[in-house]
Amino acid sequence: MSAQIIDGRKIAASIKAEVKAEAEAYLKRNGRKIGLAVILVGDDFASGIYVRNKINACNENCIQSFSHRLPASTTEEELIELIHKLNEDNTVDGILVQLPLPSHIRQNVVLSHISAKKDADGFLAENAGNLMLGNPSLNACTPCGIIELIKSTGCKIDGANAVVIGRSNIVGKPTSLLLLENHATVTMCHSHTSNFVNFSRHADILVVAVGKKGLITGEMVKKGAIVIDVGMNREDGKLCGDVDYESVSQVAGYITPVPGGVGPMTIAMLLKNIVKAALALE
Ligand code: NAP
Repeated sequence: MSAQIIDGRKIAASIKAEVKAEAEAYLKRNGRKIGLAVILVGDDFASGIYVRNKINACNENCIQSFSHRLPASTTEEELIELIHKLNEDNTVDGILVQLPLPSHIRQNVVLSHISAKKDADGFLAENAGNLMLGNPSLNACTPCGIIELIKSTGCKIDGANAVVIGRSNIVGKPTSLLLLENHATVTMCHSHTSNFVNFSRHADILVVAVGKKGLITGEMVKKGAIVIDVGMNREDGKLCGDVDYESVSQVAGYITPVPGGVGPMTIAMLLKNIVKAALALE
């Protein structure tokens, strides 16, 4: 048996098309584009690329981007002052602070000043708390993308046995909560789990977000399972996931490739979050 590939690029493209149509309708109704403010502090090379990709995605999909590139010497107070201005700015619907920040700036303190209504990344405690309580919230982009990928298979999440390996605040925990919201029975595994294979082998849906190349092999996976590989590991300049694609694709029913699976979904879901924020503020 060879698993069906879940094509993240194709699914992301269709989400972006929906976003663009909504953003164009917003422009017609309001006489201005939906706006995202992107703050980059310092000159970290990778962060510069991520920011450029996000700005390009906005430009291609009828969303106005406001780029704030600040020197590495920027103080915490200056950054917070800018965030307060953007919170008050009616042309800005979403605010994104590119992480990581220089070490003299306390990330949590700075992020806590972003209005929860404009929290494009869905990282704030208020939004994470609302997700946990089942209230409307702006949710973290990668987990939202993961749910879309699972739904694209047409398989039911309701009642499925889901296992999430990894419990970070930006991937593992919110993914588990979103699966729970969709009525899966969810097990979370982490570095203290004694033998996660006892769980992974029974998973109808297996999400792996650890950051260890090839951690999951075919014999750890249930026949016909949906396997979502969130891992992004670089080896000899090549990007690879946490799942050993060759062996797992012989057992799973559906699998995401790396690259081309979860990765492209993150920016698409960021755009979707910005539209959601704008519509709530309209
Ligand atoms: P993270 O904050 O480092 O969390 C890793 C998680 O894996 C932790 O919860 C850790 O457990 C757990 N873990 C570590 N070793 C383990 C083991 N041997 N068995 C079971 N669990 C283990 O990483 P993250 O930010 O969630 O990211 C995870 C991966 O996804 C990375 O490769 C990252 O680059 C990738 N990623 C991709 C995207 C995308 O858009 N495609 C977005 C975000 C992240 P403890 O909590 O016990 O330490």
